[in-house]
Amino acid sequence: MKFGVHVSISGGVDKAIERAGALGCDCFQIFVANPRSWASQRISKQDAGLFREKRAVSGLGPLVVHMTYLPNLASPDPAIHKKSLKNFLDQYEDATMVGADLFVIHPGSSKGEDRTKALRRLAESVRSGIDKYPDGPKALLEVMAGGGSIIGGLPEELAEADGIISRPEKTGICFDTAHAFAAGYEIDKPNGMAKLRKRFHKCYGRHPISLIHLNDLRSEFGSKHDRHEHIGKGNLGPDGIRNVLRTPGMRSLPVILETPVDESRDDMGNLAEARKLSLPQT
Ligand SMILES: [Zn+2]
Ligand SMILES: [Zn+2]
Repeated sequence: MKFGVHVSISGGVDKAIERAGALGCDCFQIFVANPRSWASQRISKQDAGLFREKRAVSGLGPLVVHMTYLPNLASPDPAIHKKSLKNFLDQYEDATMVGADLFVIHPGSSKGEDRTKALRRLAESVRSGIDKYPDGPKALLEVMAGGGSIIGGLPEELAEADGIISRPEKTGICFDTAHAFAAGYEIDKPNGMAKLRKRFHKCYGRHPISLIHLNDLRSEFGSKHDRHEHIGKGNLGPDGIRNVLRTPGMRSLPVILETPVDESRDDMGNLAEARKLSLPQT
């Protein structure tokens, strides 16, 4: 399996490749803009070219771009939706320029208003990016912990959005293990992950999971609270993580870790743990 982490682009987008290489990643994930700002800092053609050259030499891949956190493509507020759509299109274009393979999108929130309309806004926004940049990365909606107005806690809801996008060859799912466990799916149990994967298949009419965000969960199972933990140290635990990674069909997918970095463990430590848990038990 291919394992990687989210790395920073500070100092230039190409620096991310060096960081990922130094950590021993096979693949990696980046933001192409400041994740907590609306300001659109674009990547220049020159920087994108340098990045592509360096990545070709490094052999690292797939390259995942995660959309920043502020855009809400499902927003019922026209001004916020407009701003979100522009932000998404800018980032999707930059992701295309740097040669990204996958682009992860948080589905957003209906903010207490009509969910069906929110799904439509989300789907039409994503489709506009896919159609505007035909060489763009595969657009992945991320499974969320759900709760309240948050979209993406249910496979059927994600499948409904996917049906409206109607570009199946260019769309899929980013499966975050912490989010799924917080949403209340028993992915730690034998057959729990297999059952959920079958449910995705049933409502999509294909296997949509294209990427694993491998995180343990600090919050309780089913709590809808999304707090990431070091691999094996949370409520999913080593057996839960192993169960996800050993489930047939999951083994061909790239894995990105979004785990904490603190005094108890760093990215390299979590990568080592994840790789260990992916191997057959001896
Ligand atoms: Zn995410
Ligand atoms: Zn999360």
